[in-house]
Amino acid sequence: MLTPDVCVVGAGSGGLVVAAGAAQLGLEVVLIERGEMGGDCLNFGCVPSKALIAAARAAQAQRSGSAFGVAAVEPKIDFARVMDHVAETIAAIAPNDSVERFEKLGVRVLKEQARFVARNELLAGPHRIRSKRIVLATGSRPAVPPIPGLGDAPYLTNETIFANRTLPSHLIVIGGGPIGLELAQAFRRLGARVTVLEAARFLAKDDPELSAIVVRHLKDEGVELRAGAKIARVEGNAVILDGGERLDGSHLLVATGRTPTVDGLDLDTAGIAHTPHGITVDGALRTTNRNVWAIGDCNGLYAFTHMAGYEASLFIRGALFRAPARLDQSIVPWTTYTDPELAQVGLSEPAARERHGDGIKVVRWPFADNDRARTERVNDGLVKAIADRRGRILGAAIVGPNAGELIQPWCLALSQRLKMSAIASFVPPYPTLGEASKRAAGSYFTDALFGARTRKLVRFLARLPVW
Ligand SMILES: Cc1cc2nc3c(=O)[nH]c(=O)nc-3n(C[C@H](O)[C@H](O)[C@H](O)COP(=O)(O)OP(=O)(O)OC[C@H]3O[C@@H](n4cnc5c(N)ncnc54)[C@H](O)[C@@H]3O)c2cc1C
Repeated sequence: MLTPDVCVVGAGSGGLVVAAGAAQLGLEVVLIERGEMGGDCLNFGCVPSKALIAAARAAQAQRSGSAFGVAAVEPKIDFARVMDHVAETIAAIAPNDSVERFEKLGVRVLKEQARFVARNELLAGPHRIRSKRIVLATGSRPAVPPIPGLGDAPYLTNETIFANRTLPSHLIVIGGGPIGLELAQAFRRLGARVTVLEAARFLAKDDPELSAIVVRHLKDEGVELRAGAKIARVEGNAVILDGGERLDGSHLLVATGRTPTVDGLDLDTAGIAHTPHGITVDGALRTTNRNVWAIGDCNGLYAFTHMAGYEASLFIRGALFRAPARLDQSIVPWTTYTDPELAQVGLSEPAARERHGDGIKVVRWPFADNDRARTERVNDGLVKAIADRRGRILGAAIVGPNAGELIQPWCLALSQRLKMSAIASFVPPYPTLGEASKRAAGSYFTDALFGARTRKLVRFLARLPVW
């Protein structure tokens, strides 16, 4: 029987932050992991997908130099070597998440499957663990839709696609969300024919004005995108649509969302309520069992690595320091790492209109009016921001190069409850893409600043003696 101060189940983005933090605060910590240390992000998610995207960007750069006077060439791609690069990237980061590193921090790591045997007690292989603070960080797995024939098909998911070393001749992607589109563009750039089938609209959680720009770029690069596609059945790697059209693929990728992982945990034994959307938590991430918290993808809130990290820090603050700790999802950004990238924080325009009606002001600044973008021959994309009548920022979204980096001043602004005036008045270096954020925020004040009343006031002041 082990009786640590904190017991963490799942050594992914959320669990590792809790384990490292609690151990460094001098607490006794047991960390239980049944699979790979590092969880989805390191092994099957963020890291391999961004490594693949980086290789695809290098390929695309060779095709797109002609506007700069650099001859465009069709790149020669060694796909097996691309996948070596993906594996090498994972291997380079893996030591940060390894058993060795965590044992050095003083964490007791058990490579076992955990399940509850009592309210405060888990079984993990030969070990029984009793703790007053149990943190579930068990992540999520691919949600597979009930399409006839899919169950018997040799489909890929994010858990298998990065182990595939043959370039698909025709990759059919089911699902047009961030994961589906990021991988679709990467495989297209690496030389595959790619078709994406989406039952509703692409990037449905993002502002349609901005996601339309991503969709246009993907189409221009030759990704075949079908919105509103209804799949009748799957036969091997072929997809048959309603109406009978047959698409023959060499590989099929299912990217239709995520299901929280709760299998085998025996949550009911510990009185922990859960639904198909995840483990039920309150604003402090506590479950219906007051000794158990659930963080990261398993609680069904935003499924991002930085969200899992944020929730882990709230657990440390609330449960270990006993300080106020309440989740605020409105400050959590997300980025889709297509080219152009699409980043969002706070409310989108449709969501802001739904909540605040017409009491909002929307401002935009296109990259076509940004000097640095011009030097890079970026002709579209924009910064869009929304504020209420008093200038309080409600949300911002950016579509363009490095949008995931450019959104960060807006993340800071939302987390610190800053107003548009804060973004309008900082001094960015010239020439940078970041200036577009300042210009967008500045345009919030254009009407008031250059309106009749201000002009009258300034004319009056100009007539006064110089002081
Ligand atoms: C293709 C893809 C790309 C992504 N890209 C991004 C991105 O660019 N940016 C971003 O922010 N997010 C991205 N994500 C999402 C991100 O990977 C997840 O949000 C993040 O990994 C969730 O962390 P977690 O700690 O909740 O779960 P995980 O990191 O998945 O860790 C959960 C761990 O719990 C273990 N476990 C489960 N049950 C048990 C049990 N009973 N006993 C013991 N161990 C158990 C699992 O084996 C797993 O290792 C991506 C996801 C995918 C699939």
